[in-house]
This record gives sequence, structure tokens and C-alpha cells, in this order.
Amino acid sequence: MPWVQCSKCQYIREAKFPAYHLNTIPIHPGSKVLPEYSMCTNCGEQKKWTEHTGLIAQTILSNERLAYELAYNLLTQKRKSISDIRILIKTKEKSYAEQFKEKFKESTFKYNPNDSFHLHTEIQLCIDTLVSLMEEEAILNKKLSQMTDPDIIERDATTVNKKAFDASPKGLILGSRQFVSMKAPITQILDAANWSWGLNVSWVEGGITGKTIFELLVESSNPYHNIPNDILVTLQQTPNIQSDVFLSLCETHGAGSLLWYNQGGENRPTWTALEIATLLRMNYNFLFQNNKIYLKK
Ligand SMILES: [Zn+2]
Repeated sequence: MPWVQCSKCQYIREAKFPAYHLNTIPIHPGSKVLPEYSMCTNCGEQKKWTEHTGLIAQTILSNERLAYELAYNLLTQKRKSISDIRILIKTKEKSYAEQFKEKFKESTFKYNPNDSFHLHTEIQLCIDTLVSLMEEEAILNKKLSQMTDPDIIERDATTVNKKAFDASPKGLILGSRQFVSMKAPITQILDAANWSWGLNVSWVEGGITGKTIFELLVESSNPYHNIPNDILVTLQQTPNIQSDVFLSLCETHGAGSLLWYNQGGENRPTWTALEIATLLRMNYNFLFQNNKIYLKK
């Protein structure tokens, strides 16, 4: 997706459409009413979008922080509600159990199977509900524990950005994470304990600032580590391909390759394809030399 910038307040965002489209294409054909996205949400100015080809990592990291805070609040609120309900049901179960005990204590108590059945059912229902609530709580706890604090992500993002900048004279290496971590020097690949897309872009931008050349490392014997031949031919013919054109090419011809992920119900560009799209957007071009694939400005 293209990135656009408001030329009045400099606010940047990722948009569904290029700047030209945002500024001129009305909601309905023939109408003059521009859709909401023609307005800058930051300063209210309309039709002032320009293509943004500058750095974007900081904006992505801020958006990730916002998404984290929303998800964190939602999950903790849900966990609190479940815990409250669990306490209520536990109390209810206890009171049924007490009633049951009392009835059997009374010497005058006439055994009524319906009565006992009713109480048993109530108790059993409480226990079943308690079990499923505890399962839900466990799932929420797991989700919460898997979320990485944005402070840590941002700290790592700064580190990888500097590492990439420092390694720029040697060149940086892109490709399947599994493959490049075996084949390339660790200083020239993205290497961090945590990962987010914003952190990933920070690393790429460290290389861009250092004016590095990126090499795309492929393994021809493994389709998941390789570029399909028809895409390769197109890229050789148009090494200055536009970012969005490249991504649609990945979608139409790259399924099950290094460029497009379509497993487990997912259907999206791979992170490698998005790294390449980021470089193309910042005016990098493909360069084919000695059977190697590079991205160079
Ligand atoms: Zn603005």
C-alpha cells in the first residue's frame, strides 16, 4: 500500500490509494463529493496528500504501540469480567452444596429423588461453567504473556537500526529468515530477540540511511526460499518496478514462494516481499549481476 504525507502538517500514513487518488477521486462516479480519506485527520486539510518516499518505521512503531495498548486493555478487562463471574458461580455452587448437605442431615427428611436430581444438576452446571471459564482465563493469560511490550520492541528497533547502518559498507542480506541465518554473516542480517514489522522496517531503514546495497539471497532448490521464474523474468525486464505493481505480481504469480504466503488460512505477501516493496517505494531498483539479485539505489 502506498504511503502518503499531508503537505500542510507533514503527517504521514499508509493509505489504501495513492495520493493522486485520495485528492481527486470522488465517492461516486460523476459526483464531486470526495471521500473522508481525502481529509487529513491530523490538521483537517483536504486534498493535500503527496506521495511519501521517506522513512516510515517510527510511524509503524507508534501504530503498533497503539494496537498493543488497545489489545492489552481489552484482554485485561475481559479477564477481570471472567474472574468476577467465576467468583459468583463458585459462591452459587457452594450454596447448592450446602443445601444438599443440610437436606440429608434432617432426620425428618423424606427422600425425594427429583429433589436430589435437581440439586445435583445445578451443582454439575456450576462446575462445568467454572471449568470453561478457567479455560478461557488460561487462553487470555497466554495471549497476554505472548504480547511483547512496545518499550522493548522500540529499544530493539533502535539497536537493529544502528547495526544495519554500521554494516552498510558490507551490504545487507534479505531472504527467508531460516535460510539467511544459515548462509549469511549475522552482522548483515536482521538479528533480534523480538520481532515486529516496525522493528523490521527500522533495520531496513538503517541500511537505507547507510546507503547500503541489499542482496536477496535465494535457494533455487527450495520454492519457499526462491523467486518463481516468471516473476524473475518480469523483474529483469523492469528492474525499476513500482512497489505496488511488485506486490500484485507477488500475489498473482508468487503463491507458495519466498514472496507470497498462503498457508494456514493466510493469504498475504511475505515479510521479505514487504521489505522489497519498502525499498522499491524508497526508489531502490533491482540489479541482476553474476547470477545474484541486488536492490540498489
Ligand atoms: Zn495535515
